[in-house]
Amino acid sequence: MPKKYHIETKKIAPRLPKRGKFGIVDWREDCAQCHNCVKKACVYDRYRQEMQYIKNLDEFNSMFFECMGCFSCVQKCTKGLLALTVNPEYERMGNGYFTPDIILTTWNQAETAGIPVSGAGYRGKFTGSGFDSMWTDMSEIVRPTRDGIHGREYISTSVDIGRKPKLLSFENNKLTTTLPPLVDLPVPIIIEMFPEKYHFPNLIPMLLAVAVKTGTMIIVDWKYHHLLGAYEENHLSNIIFYLDKETPLPPPDILKKLRLIEIVDSDRIEQRINEIKAVNPELVVSIRVELDACGEQRSIELAHHPFIEVIHIVSDINGNQTGAEKPKFIKDMTRIIHTSLVKDGIRDEITLIASGGIALAEHMAKEIICGADVITINMPLLIGLECRFCKNCRDGFACPAKIETITAEYGIGRMTNLIAVWHDQLIEVMGAMGMREARRLRGETGRALFFEDLEEETFGRHFGKRIRA
Ligand code: SF4
Ligand code: SF4
Repeated sequence: MPKKYHIETKKIAPRLPKRGKFGIVDWREDCAQCHNCVKKACVYDRYRQEMQYIKNLDEFNSMFFECMGCFSCVQKCTKGLLALTVNPEYERMGNGYFTPDIILTTWNQAETAGIPVSGAGYRGKFTGSGFDSMWTDMSEIVRPTRDGIHGREYISTSVDIGRKPKLLSFENNKLTTTLPPLVDLPVPIIIEMFPEKYHFPNLIPMLLAVAVKTGTMIIVDWKYHHLLGAYEENHLSNIIFYLDKETPLPPPDILKKLRLIEIVDSDRIEQRINEIKAVNPELVVSIRVELDACGEQRSIELAHHPFIEVIHIVSDINGNQTGAEKPKFIKDMTRIIHTSLVKDGIRDEITLIASGGIALAEHMAKEIICGADVITINMPLLIGLECRFCKNCRDGFACPAKIETITAEYGIGRMTNLIAVWHDQLIEVMGAMGMREARRLRGETGRALFFEDLEEETFGRHFGKRIRA
């Protein structure tokens, strides 16, 4: 039996004071000094930790906000002196799409490599925009596939990247079809390039080390390949070099050792692919297509060319179509592309990689259900390094999370933890859906519920069609 895919993790403590969500306001004036003060009964021991934190404070830059919001002390204080409050600094984090809750949960996952547990059930809204308007069908949660989660059965998260033949031909029991090259990954996650304003040169060798540790690959703009240092030579099979329209091809000795390369979509792609294949016919070529107003149509059109192996669709970091006044969301664009290729009978021949807006592990599973074979990750890895998603990167100011100064042990450890815990959550969600293979999850919309579809089925016949914004 092949060895099970497993990522080694270890707890990596944060460098900075955490920005938790809740804190307790303590109106001490009227305190009765109860012998059995409710503060001592905090199961999370927050009051003692807070005292410790205040004693060791070297700079007053953040209050202690690590209360779990259980209300126990607030309800039981005999004088009613305690009140729960939400940390205003916490509420300021993020950019609207990457919410404070997403940031805090990502910090915790990068620290502990543990699956987040919210405790008293889901307390959020019934539905929302983007990935929040779809739900995975967990009705198999009590079925035997739970065995996969507990390791008694194997749930495979492997995926293949490349072009697959439509049919296989045999003659005298021998395969006569020439099989195109394929790249196999143990997880459907590739590390994506960062947008230019979030580019930290010190992170590039660390990201490659994370790709090596987790057995996946990283996309690196060829113009930054010198930043990989000594790693480049030894780990070319984990690197996907990205070439812009005008970027010359890497030297042949490098091209020959790569498994996957990415070129930007242009009117010269066939020529570029031929040049690459002339050096290394086994090299799989991915075409990067921006999801702008023409992105969906262009992806569908490209998939019909027999020389195209992989299409990488890229939205902005929030999963939105670029340059549109009313942008579509990545999951909807992926569904349109996937469904169109299924109708044309060519979906299985092409690999679809999707980028943008995948902020949580559940988004990965949902995006695969919508039709992507593989997703990419970038901003959540930066958040795992205690980035607060402030506006400083965007505006060119100093980083409050001091990302430029992190050590390799801290950076590689936390980013590896995050990928490991995303992998664990993918297994959780697949087990609950009764799926045993990530390859079969792709496009499996029967295992999901979409708000728009439910609304139409339930209310459409009474109230007519919704006029979309
Ligand atoms: S609300 Fe709960 S977690 Fe927070 S300090 Fe009080 S007892 Fe502790
Ligand atoms: S915390 Fe640092 S890396 Fe994160 S957005 Fe702000 S400046 Fe950029």
